[in-house]
Amino acid sequence: MPGEIYDLIIVGGGPAGLMAAKTAAGEGLSVLLVERKKEISRITRSCCSMWINEPMTHGECISVENGRVLFRLNDFCIDYSGSMIPLRQYIRFSPGGKKVVFENRFDPVAIAFDKSELLKGLLSEAEVLGVNIASGSLCIDAEDEQEEISVKIRDAEGVRHLHGQYLILADGVNSALSAKLGFHENRKRLGRFEVISHFYRDVECPYPPAFMNFVGSGHLKGAMGNVYMLPKPGMEENAENVFEVSIGSPEGDRVSLKDKMNYFTREGYFASWFKNAGLVGVNSAVLNFRTPLATPAKSRTLVAGDAASFIETYCQGAIIYGRAAGLAVAARIKQGKDFSEYVDLWIKTYGYNQPGEIEKATKIYGINRLPDRDLDCLFGFTDNETWRGYVNEFNDFERMMKAINAHIDAIKAERPDLAAAVEKCFDIKNTELKGSLSLS
Ligand SMILES: Cc1cc2nc3c(=O)[nH]c(=O)nc-3n(C[C@H](O)[C@H](O)[C@H](O)COP(=O)(O)OP(=O)(O)OC[C@H]3O[C@@H](n4cnc5c(N)ncnc54)[C@H](O)[C@@H]3O)c2cc1C
Repeated sequence: MPGEIYDLIIVGGGPAGLMAAKTAAGEGLSVLLVERKKEISRITRSCCSMWINEPMTHGECISVENGRVLFRLNDFCIDYSGSMIPLRQYIRFSPGGKKVVFENRFDPVAIAFDKSELLKGLLSEAEVLGVNIASGSLCIDAEDEQEEISVKIRDAEGVRHLHGQYLILADGVNSALSAKLGFHENRKRLGRFEVISHFYRDVECPYPPAFMNFVGSGHLKGAMGNVYMLPKPGMEENAENVFEVSIGSPEGDRVSLKDKMNYFTREGYFASWFKNAGLVGVNSAVLNFRTPLATPAKSRTLVAGDAASFIETYCQGAIIYGRAAGLAVAARIKQGKDFSEYVDLWIKTYGYNQPGEIEKATKIYGINRLPDRDLDCLFGFTDNETWRGYVNEFNDFERMMKAINAHIDAIKAERPDLAAAVEKCFDIKNTELKGSLSLS
């Protein structure tokens, strides 16, 4: 390793970095992957780990079958033989337990998977293809010079400089290295969120496997935030009913995430589900929300996955863009091509590069600002209905609006003040509502 000049150095061993590494090595490149975690497949960062199977998410229609995840439109597949739970419903709960339920006749709303198994699979393929894995190595600096790139890493042996022809930064949503290499000029920072995730066994949830979102401050003792919950495959052997509960809120809220979690699981409306539950794991995350990179390639460096994104690319997006980045470097070295194909794919397919998507994602959080009794009243109108839909942040806003707008006349008659607040919060008049999506 010392003195060697790699064709490609990749920083970050998440889905994007591992996929880039295995793809580039498969194309015959000498590849070094630098990851700060000692054990790459150990998951420490919050991630609900669902395959988002709604067609055309990031320009792709993924499906899972026979130990493989198929990316049909990008024309590749990856092996995945870990456990999975197809989620039948997507349920939003008001503080008083009223619901908006989404479900599809033929498809799950999303598929919960085991991210650790996903990373293990990608890592072992990368190793078989000859990728040099430097785990337990923190990349503390990177340079992109005319003739080569270099990274400075700190590991158990000290600080070293390593050299390569090309660099892929796949160091996640808070990427410090892309900032260092000048990718953040013209990028807006839109906020910072903190997330805590607890994993509980023996949760007594009466619903079929579902992704659940608990809306309103009543779930959190009057504090700000969003609660998500879903069954978690592969967490513990023989553990039944293991669920992940994640709470996210803007940084610096007066109530700590831990207190919010305690309130939700011990005192809140749904506390009875947790009366016999045992805590089996804790993860967390801090997320800087920034506008996506307009051009995730410059000179000898490409940025892939969450490092280039607004909030996230999802694991499947990280895999798509990681693979595309690996192929782009191989095409540059072998055929002298530039990186425009990679940049085009990013611009055309990444959801948050499409006009209006960041605004919509922000608007859906407006509903959290409604008082608890208004949310109970509103969700009371949809409580016995089922609407069509998947878990997918890109279509959440429209779907919620459709469900609520179907009752807007009744809401106006009963609570004109609430109808006005809803119209303002959702900007209903200015949003196009296409067709009816009701299943019930
Ligand atoms: C609360 C929450 C829920 C989510 N739910 C889902 C979901 O249901 N489905 C889904 O698909 N996605 C979900 N995501 C998003 C998903 O986790 C990411 O989109 C995905 O992991 C991105 O992969 P990545 O490889 O780009 O980045 P990451 O997975 O973040 O990997 C980056 C890697 O780089 C390493 N690294 C960082 N800096 C350095 C450095 N300086 N030196 C060396 N190594 C470094 C990190 O240790 C890490 O391993 C969720 C995220 C959050 C926060």
